Amino acid sequence: MFSTAEQTLKSSLKALGKDFYINYLRHALFFNWRSIVGDGIADNIRPSRLERKTLFVAIDSAPWRTEFQFKKAGIVDKINDAAECKLIDEILIGQSFKAPAPPSNDTNEPERLTPDEIIANDLPNITLTDEELEEILNNSPSIEDDQLRTVMLETSKTRARLNKCRLKHGWHRCATCELLVPPEEILCDNCMLKELEQFRRAIADVIREVPWLTYAEIRREMENRMPHLVNQCYPETVLSIRSTVVQQLARSLDVRDQRQIKRLVMAYRQLPPDQLTDDVIKRTMRRLRFDLPTGGEDY
Ligand SMILES: [Zn+2]
Repeated sequence: MFSTAEQTLKSSLKALGKDFYINYLRHALFFNWRSIVGDGIADNIRPSRLERKTLFVAIDSAPWRTEFQFKKAGIVDKINDAAECKLIDEILIGQSFKAPAPPSNDTNEPERLTPDEIIANDLPNITLTDEELEEILNNSPSIEDDQLRTVMLETSKTRARLNKCRLKHGWHRCATCELLVPPEEILCDNCMLKELEQFRRAIADVIREVPWLTYAEIRREMENRMPHLVNQCYPETVLSIRSTVVQQLARSLDVRDQRQIKRLVMAYRQLPPDQLTDDVIKRTMRRLRFDLPTGGEDY
């Protein structure tokens, strides 16, 4: 997992403690994925997350899902050989968010309309079949009050027409819940928000565990883990999360603990452990005292 040039880094990492070293290996698995497993596998199987010693991967193509079953044991060996320890026990196929295909061009919808406008325009033309009406009637709760029952029934009919219209225009289920979302989207607004929170938390974890990674390296790791959100990984995003992580590390800092100090300096200066000299640490800590931003979110 390490090139020869990284040997110094490797011993510096070990000096920072076993946990830190193992964490680094876990991340190295993501950003060295291609060199560990080779191009053929890397082109078709993406590592998405590591839970204890189980690696979850995303595989978009059906033939490769089958192929994977035969290659699985070999991949586990490759990973553990590269890490020079038993980093993982098994690999499972996890949930994969595949971007849906763009809507076909044979519709006559003008491109300037938003998905909601397209639906609003076509909704008056959508009617329910007798079977669909019957299904709504069968599924509606029995309500004594006539007026209330009528209102509920009308609401159900409107919702059914709306969904029918959406399906007609290529809407599909959100990747994690039942709501219908426009053709080009993967998640509904609510799930998107939750995913984004998770995405930011994952970036914070990466920064905490491998503090010296550059923006490009972090982005590459996120591309493996949460490809559906990587377009949300702006330099500003990473910068702001890094600043939050630095604040957290500074807040909880035990000044007698050299490892904590080093981690803080690495996160703040984006320096690998082999570049941490006493002088660098001293100067950085002095600067940090004046430069610590306040406020912000927690991860
Ligand atoms: Zn959803």
